[in-house]
Amino acid sequence: MSISSYNILLIEDNELNSMLLKRRLEKHDFNIWVQQDGHFLSVFLKQNHPDLILMDLALPGIDGLVLTQALKSSPQTAAIPIIAVSAYAMSGDKAKALTAGCDDYISKPVDFNLLLSKMEHLLKVNREKSTM
Ligand code: MN
Repeated sequence: MSISSYNILLIEDNELNSMLLKRRLEKHDFNIWVQQDGHFLSVFLKQNHPDLILMDLALPGIDGLVLTQALKSSPQTAAIPIIAVSAYAMSGDKAKALTAGCDDYISKPVDFNLLLSKMEHLLKVNREKSTM
């Protein structure tokens, strides 16, 4: 399976941030879907099956930690790796994200190469699980 077949869901309310990140990831042959918040997420996920989710933690309405908990407690979405993306470089934020069920964490401004390596790692782990 080539990396070009991976579908990544980016949940980010800031349009400039999501556009820039989408563009950069598309250059690495990821297919990027964007949702601005958790509003229609359950409907979206009934029809689309992302291989990985990039979750902004600060979202209008339902925040990213609550969304993560909901996704990880639903059998249909529990296996999708989630990387928390947070603007708060405050201590404790990473711990909160991991406690909520996020598989990894990265702070804004995003170090793109670090993000890529985290994504590739989680996608590889999941691929190995699914072929066992
Ligand atoms: Mn935000």
